[in-house]
Amino acid sequence: MAQTIQGIRGMNDILPQEGARWQHFDAVVRDWLAAYGYNQIRTPIVEATQLFVRGVGEHTDIVEKEMYAFEDSLNGEQLVLRPEGTAGCVRACIEHGMLYNQTQRLWYTGPMFRHERPQKGRYRQFHQVGVEAFGFNGPDVDAEMIVMLADLWRRLGLTGLKLELNTLGDSVERAAHRQALIAYLEKHVDILDEDGKRRLYTNPLRVLDTKNPALQDMAENAPKLAEFLGEESRAHFTGLCRLLDDAGLSYSLNHRLVRGLDYYNRSVFEWTTDQLGAQATVAAGGRYDGLVEQLGGKPCPAVGFAMGIERLILLLETQGVDAPRAVPDVYLVHAGEAAARSAFRVARELREAGLKVVLHAGGGSFKSQFKKADASGAHFAVVIGDEEAAAATANLKRLTGESGGDQQVVPQNELVARLSAAA
Ligand code: ATP
Ligand code: MG
Repeated sequence: MAQTIQGIRGMNDILPQEGARWQHFDAVVRDWLAAYGYNQIRTPIVEATQLFVRGVGEHTDIVEKEMYAFEDSLNGEQLVLRPEGTAGCVRACIEHGMLYNQTQRLWYTGPMFRHERPQKGRYRQFHQVGVEAFGFNGPDVDAEMIVMLADLWRRLGLTGLKLELNTLGDSVERAAHRQALIAYLEKHVDILDEDGKRRLYTNPLRVLDTKNPALQDMAENAPKLAEFLGEESRAHFTGLCRLLDDAGLSYSLNHRLVRGLDYYNRSVFEWTTDQLGAQATVAAGGRYDGLVEQLGGKPCPAVGFAMGIERLILLLETQGVDAPRAVPDVYLVHAGEAAARSAFRVARELREAGLKVVLHAGGGSFKSQFKKADASGAHFAVVIGDEEAAAATANLKRLTGESGGDQQVVPQNELVARLSAAA
């Protein structure tokens, strides 16, 4: 026998038994996004490496150590499997002239790729739903995004998620804070780890984002951006907080929340859970007013977030939230040559009428076919033998509910009406 080939570490197969949960999640998400007027955009999985170097930032975990970057062996182009969706979304919007003097409310979903150490809730291929709004200065859209996530948790049946907020100010305020921060970090350079030393001058804000326990006190006492905010940034943030208060959301201010990506300004937020261990963040986002310009477009304010689908699915499992199982209306049982042809035709007619039908295939006794019918979860079995085929009738048997087991002979051309009435 030939040797088997394994999947790639950190890249998961999503098996049919998990399918119901994923499909339910997708369906809830689609309705939810429609309720807020967001339109879907689909962009390629492969993009130019430069897009993320410029769009995410050279001195970020993603670009420094997590990107699946490769050279196209046919034409030498430098490419990556996208690690996140915002940069591609912005690229597409600029390329198709969707931003200048316009507003857009967009969403996307799909696989993302990051070369991380795989563990529960952290994979090398994972899926996100991302939402972006362009052309709005906020803080009303910022608040809308946060509130709509609270609404999504409700729609999904998730509880216990916590909201953390911070503001990063504008670029001038960040520059002033950065200087103070560098001066502070220089005083503590002895205790900094390798990442910290390397980022001291390239990305000092990210030094505070450290997960190293030995650096927590140092990070906690560092100069805070909030102390450098000007009036406009402060007004933006209090405006956001007021809308969240009005919506009855509780949140905590976390001045160390800086987000893994460089392009954020003003509002940043994370929704977290304490039920998934270290992989606590299920959705995260914020404002990134500078990114469109940085990627070559005309200045355009923007705000967005992304959520990790695997983490949310894990949380749904953890909280025991069941997804409705998609079951067929009818399992079509048949035996005999004439019956097989008749069943094939009846199955098509029922489907044309909008019913979900599994047509038995592969032969076998009535008994074994009924076992499969039961296992499929179908509400009805439609049974056709050669006698029924000759008489253009079928045996209609209810499989589920209180009247499960009831059966009657029905002319084939009345099946649709009977089934629709019973549904
Ligand atoms: P973390 O701090 O957990 O590494 P991040 O800041 O890198 O997260 P973002 O880039 O903000 O994550 O992505 C948004 C969301 O996507 C995260 O909140 C998380 O739910 C999910 N996510 C990010 N990386 C992974 C991964 N490797 N596997 C599974 N989900 C992920
Ligand atoms: Mg990360």
